Amino acid sequence: MIMIVMFFLRSFRATVAALGAIALLATAGCSSSASQDGSDADSTTNIVVGAYPFEYIASQVAGDHATVTNLLAPGADSHDLELSPRQIGQVSAADLVIYQSGLQAPMDQAIEQQTPTHVLDTATFLKLRPATAAADDQDSHQIDPDRYDPGAYDPHVWLDPTNMVEIANQTAAVLSQIQPENADDFAANAAQLNSRLADLDSQFTSGLSNCARTTFITNHAAFGYLASRYGLEQVGISGLSPDEEPSPARIAQVQQIAKDNGVTTIFYETAVSPKVAQTIASDLGLSTDVLDPIETLSPESRGNDYLEVMSSNLDSLQKANGCE
Ligand SMILES: [Zn+2]
Repeated sequence: MIMIVMFFLRSFRATVAALGAIALLATAGCSSSASQDGSDADSTTNIVVGAYPFEYIASQVAGDHATVTNLLAPGADSHDLELSPRQIGQVSAADLVIYQSGLQAPMDQAIEQQTPTHVLDTATFLKLRPATAAADDQDSHQIDPDRYDPGAYDPHVWLDPTNMVEIANQTAAVLSQIQPENADDFAANAAQLNSRLADLDSQFTSGLSNCARTTFITNHAAFGYLASRYGLEQVGISGLSPDEEPSPARIAQVQQIAKDNGVTTIFYETAVSPKVAQTIASDLGLSTDVLDPIETLSPESRGNDYLEVMSSNLDSLQKANGCE
């Protein structure tokens, strides 16, 4: 019995020693990469993102163990992200960049050219919806990395809370490589976030299960993942990017869809001009309301974080579609 205990103690000690060695190596790797341009000689882990959902996950999972920089100004349209030379330097000096390739071309280019120490591209582990099917109800599928064309997929993965769970888990995994000594904290933080995301997912499932209508019309076709998860049908006036100007033919089509489906509300978002949505709504005598793709968070947002804005999206959808 004593022999067995000693064996366990010895192997436990060996494991601790090995983990310590890995931690030292990883720390050495991090600080050398961070101090390459002399901008950050301390050992703080820098996480860089270009859209709010990744900022939210990074700060929730990292807690006090990292600083998170969002390169997108609050309230800006994430599809219009432009990076200054200083921001490209921040990508270069980052210990970790979390992004969805295909959402922002300047981000994709900066990562390719600057090769930050660690990158987490959510497109590499989530099931993506084809861009052309953004308004349809086709099944999403896993990408083939060898034939991956970022522009061919709908990048708005975070609007399905179950995708957020996977991003949180992957973030915890990569942060644990960077700071193995804090792996338990990252796992605990991700678990806590994921239980709140699971609650949100159940609220959406039950809140949208008994509705008079399933079709919703929105300016920016960002809600394909949400629609697919909760059995709704999204009709986008513009395309996957909110500033695409819809043709008169498309507007006429949308008006017909609204009439055929008894649609009550035309949705728009706070970060982009509501003009097109308002014109269609007033032509048909319908209401307008906010459905937020949560690419950015600003004082205009209906909530202080991802979970709150998603709850307000649920309220808007329930009201518009006559859900019980
Ligand atoms: Zn978008």
